[in-house]
This record gives sequence, structure tokens and C-alpha cells, in this order.
Amino acid sequence: MKVFNLKNTILDIKEEFSTYFKERDAEINGSLLALLSGEHVLLLGPPGTAKTLLANKICETIEGGNFFHYLLTRFSTPEEVFGPLSLKALERDEFSRRIEGYLPTAHIALLDEIFKANSSILNSLLTILNERKYHNGKEVMDVPLFSVFGASNELPEEDESLEALYDRFLFRYSVDYIQHEENLDDLIFENVEDFTPSTKLGVGNIREIRKKARQLPVDPEVRTIIKGLRRELKSSNIFISDRRWKKIVNVLRVASAVNGHRSVNRMTVVLLQHMLWDLPEQKETIRKFILDRVVSGGTDTGKLKQDVIDLKNSIYTCLRMELPDTVACNKCYEEDKKASNPRNSRFSGMKTQKNLTFSNTLDFLKHHLEFPGHTYSVGLDYSNLNSSLNFESVAEYFHRKYAFEFKLSLDYGDKRLYEKEYENLEERRNYFRKQVQEEERALEDTLRENIWVSGQDSKEIMMKYRSKNTDIYEIASHLSEIRALLEKPKVFDIDLERVEEAA
Ligand SMILES: [Zn+2]
Repeated sequence: MKVFNLKNTILDIKEEFSTYFKERDAEINGSLLALLSGEHVLLLGPPGTAKTLLANKICETIEGGNFFHYLLTRFSTPEEVFGPLSLKALERDEFSRRIEGYLPTAHIALLDEIFKANSSILNSLLTILNERKYHNGKEVMDVPLFSVFGASNELPEEDESLEALYDRFLFRYSVDYIQHEENLDDLIFENVEDFTPSTKLGVGNIREIRKKARQLPVDPEVRTIIKGLRRELKSSNIFISDRRWKKIVNVLRVASAVNGHRSVNRMTVVLLQHMLWDLPEQKETIRKFILDRVVSGGTDTGKLKQDVIDLKNSIYTCLRMELPDTVACNKCYEEDKKASNPRNSRFSGMKTQKNLTFSNTLDFLKHHLEFPGHTYSVGLDYSNLNSSLNFESVAEYFHRKYAFEFKLSLDYGDKRLYEKEYENLEERRNYFRKQVQEEERALEDTLRENIWVSGQDSKEIMMKYRSKNTDIYEIASHLSEIRALLEKPKVFDIDLERVEEAA
């Protein structure tokens, strides 16, 4: 029951925040989830994107914890972050700091301009972030820290320690300017600074959900997706350390526990898009890859579509026969590719056209049906007398000269075979149509109950999934074309008697 309370609390906080912070759903989600799972969040972006304000307000949702906020500069000293030296200790010839109210006693901290941190601060900071330990003089103490929010206008400069610091942030968001004008108006005319979050998260809630999450199993399909992602990223030269993957899986567990799920399911994988990129320009590629993976699985309409197209093509191939001589239309032209190639022609730029030709019965008949009034020449030699023949006369000419018969329908044996195959495919289509509809409903339900998937992501996932419906429609249209070919080939739906009479 407690899990359900936490889920509602998170929903309330999200709702409250999204009325004040427009277009920041993903950042709000990630910040809350980071707090719950004890991970650090980096908000990267230009000045004026309210990064600090958002982080500050998120920190205010924690009840009963210490909050430490500091703006770092290149000249910040350890005193300012970890506390002043204790004079009493110094008198005893000992070195220690009075840490009360500074980072070592904070549950949650916001470090502005985090990559300005200099070498006098970095080592202790890294130890706190990573090991949750602080070396105060001789004493090594555990710090109560849940999460650090880092804000920065830019990525760290090339520097080993700064890169190590960057690596400590599991969640990374590149925060952009507000895109929609009405949201911008809200930002200008409302005083977001005055907003005080009314729904709070207790420190105890956080500890409890973490304990619960530890035992959650991970669905096999999620394992498969993660393994695939690892391979894919490696081949794109994006390396994620094993330690990072472990943390990621832990976050997915916490997210699922808050949802009230009994295991980590496929939809939760969507969150990975904020934990895998190193450079902002990798973001979109990774996001697309993850969404594709999340939607994949289930009914594979692609295979059925290919089978249907294959059948259609083999029927057409069966109906198509080589003509005994080339037929050219007297009215239609096509570009002569050989001659218009400037390398082959001294008159470069001059387009050469030649008459449209047909070498098989199918193309010839199709053309005739489209343009019944056109006349034809037979043979490539235009001095030929047979230069103004209508379709029937061509058929007659071929019959007389070559004893050539137009093949107008499938042989009995072929037809039986194709009909059987067609029935089988039609059955598969009906089954698939029902499957896809059921899956779509199930997907909608899964998305609705997963509070961590942002509205934008949900929309995109559904859109991607619905392309399977497009496949089903295309399959249906190919199938009806096949049915027409099998019943009475539409393409040969001409006055057959007349052709035969003429022959
Ligand atoms: Zn023509």
C-alpha cells in the first residue's frame, strides 16, 4: 500500500512542477528519480534556462534533510565547500573541519558551475560523490548524501579529473531554451521563484523504496534490449563502463518499484536515453535507438509483408513472357540513357530521346490498357513496314510470324498452388490484424501506468507502433491485387475474343 502512496506523491509533485516549469517534463522526471535512486543529475545548458531554479525547487521537495547550495568559481576554496578548519583541533595539532552545514553533512546538494571546481576541491568532491565518504583529517566518515545536482553552461574542459567528475553524473540533461511562445509568456509573467513545492518526499520514503527496489527482477526482454544497446553503442564508439550499467539497472528497478510493478518491464528502458550520452550531439541517435528497441518485439508484420510481396511478384513473373521481337510505341518516348550521358556524347547537354519499348507481354499489355489508342512498331528497325500497328495487329503479326500465343492466364497447376498460398497469407493477415490491435491496447495501458515516461515519449512510442497498422493496410492491398490476378487478371481484362479472332 505504501508503494501506491509514493506513486501518487510523485505524480502530485510532477503535476505541481510542470505547471511552473514548462517543457521540462523529462528533467523533472529524471531529477525525482535520481533523488529516489541516489544518483547525481547534471543539468547542462545556456544561461537563462532556469537550471539552477529547477534543481533548487526539486531539492525543496525533500523533507527532513539538509540542503547545501554553492556556486563554484575557479577560486573556490575547500573551506567554502567542506567547512572551515576547526581551531580547537588545530590547538591539539590535529587537522579537521567543522562540517556542519556544508557538503559533508548534506542529504542533497546543488553545485552551480560545477566544472569550475579546482584541484583543491576535486579529490574530496569525487570521493563524496562516488563513495559517499569524507576524509576529515584522520577520520573517514560516511556522508548522508543522496544526490548532487550539478549545473553548468558547458561541458568540462579536457582534464582527467573533470572528466572523472563528469562521469559521476548518471543522469544528464541538456536543457534548452523554451520552445513554445505561450510557455515563454508564462515564464515571463509568473514568478516561478515564489513557488514552494507543497508535496514533499520524506527521507524515510526514499530509503524504503530503495530497499524494496533491490529485489525486483528484470524482465528477460529488458536484458535483451540492454545487451543489444551495449553492442550498438560500442560499435558507435560510445563506451559505457560496467559500473555505469550497474547503476542504470538499479535506477530502472527503483523506477519500477515506484510504479508498483513486480518486475522491470520494457517501457522503463525509455529512461536510458538520459543516462547514456557523453556528448549532447549523441542524444538524438541514442534516443531513436532506444525508442525503436522499446517498440520492437511482438508481432512482426514485416515478414508477412515480404511474403505477400513475394507471392505477388511470382504471379506476375509467371504471367510475363518475353516478346519474340521488341515492340516500340510510336507515341511515347523515354530518355536515351546511353546517349544523354555526356561522356558518351560530343553534344553534351543535349538530351536524346528514343521511343518507349517493351520486351515482355505484361508491360506491353499494361501500356495498351492505359493508352488504348497508341500504335506500335515491331522490331528496332524502323524502316520496317510494320510501323503503324494497333495492339491487336501486333498480336496477330506475332502469331503469324512466330506462332506466338499471348499467355492470358495462369496454368491450372500454378493457379491451384498460388490460391493455396494466398489463402494461407489471408489467414495470417487476419490473425496479425487482431494481434496488432490487442498489442496496441496493451501498450497504451503499459504507458499510462508508467509515471516515468514523458508525454512526448509516449506519443512517439505510440506513433512508431502504429506504423505496424500501416503495414497491415499495405498487406491488405497487395492481397486484393493478388486475388484479382487469380480470379481474372485485371491486367488482361481486355476483349480476349477480339485478340484471338485477329490472330
Ligand atoms: Zn504509348
